[in-house]
Amino acid sequence: MKVYCPYCRKEVEYEIEKRDIKEFRGIKINTYENVAVCKECHQDLYINEIENKNNKRIYELYREKADIVKPQDIIDLRNKYNISQRELTAILGFGKMTINRYERGGVPTKSQSDYIKLLIENNDKFIEKVKEALEKANINEKTYEKIMSQKIETNSILKNVRNVFKNCINMKLNRKPDIYNGYKEFDLELVENIISYIASKVTNLTITSMNKYLWFIDSLSFNQRGISITGLTYEHEKFGPTIIEKEYNDISFISDKYSKEYYENENGTTTKIISNKNFDLSQLRDEEIEIIDTIIKILKNKSVTEISELSHREEGWKKTKRFEKIPFDYAMNLNIIK
Ligand SMILES: [Zn+2]
Repeated sequence: MKVYCPYCRKEVEYEIEKRDIKEFRGIKINTYENVAVCKECHQDLYINEIENKNNKRIYELYREKADIVKPQDIIDLRNKYNISQRELTAILGFGKMTINRYERGGVPTKSQSDYIKLLIENNDKFIEKVKEALEKANINEKTYEKIMSQKIETNSILKNVRNVFKNCINMKLNRKPDIYNGYKEFDLELVENIISYIASKVTNLTITSMNKYLWFIDSLSFNQRGISITGLTYEHEKFGPTIIEKEYNDISFISDKYSKEYYENENGTTTKIISNKNFDLSQLRDEEIEIIDTIIKILKNKSVTEISELSHREEGWKKTKRFEKIPFDYAMNLNIIK
């Protein structure tokens, strides 16, 4: 199997090197990690899928040995009270994006883990913390009321509906990393957060321009690093590259990160995307946020038509036919940054 090497700047063969891991955060775990190495320049290559498997193996062992709280237990705690990651973080008094990280598999310290476990197991202790958080103004009245009056039945129905949608979207968009998703596994929550972030910075974000923003972001990322950011797959549509199968409709149906506003103009109804400003970019690397900001800066003051026209100047659009998936290797030559 070939993979893109950012050092050789081309597709190369790679081999897997097995390296020992003896310890993680002071706990003996005795395992290994697989590292992909370019056969030509012998540099370590970052392959999402392999890194994920490594992390999973190491974290699972560490969790087990150190008896760390499970991500699902934290999610269940939030669902029980219908609170966001941000709200739970505020109640616990942790650093800004902590809960998001832990729910995504990031591993808490032993002491934080024990603290969370205590609150999961002890309802009164949790409510005590909620009251404290209100007194310190870490949460507002609304959050407080919500927790106190939580009806668990309604909550679980909504959760089920969202889950059905999420499964549906994942089935259509989640594939193994390939040239059409920029060698990145699709991550629904990340996409929701990025859209919410873009919408917070761009006043005239519509469904059409949002599709181009995402495509340009992924293309620039691929151009610079040989890997996309969102893992979305795009196809050639009349107004430019668009998420395949119009899946953005389903994504925005379930998202609580942004909302849609409809307004009429001479072309019919336009949908504007408004950020709920609760995005969380903590899982992105600095370089990825820089890429997103670069595209926002370029497109921000342009109209939807201008953005659409810019996308029509790119090889990815010019060299594909209508409804064809757009491979990311065209992104190696990107006009928007010239
Ligand atoms: Zn190489």
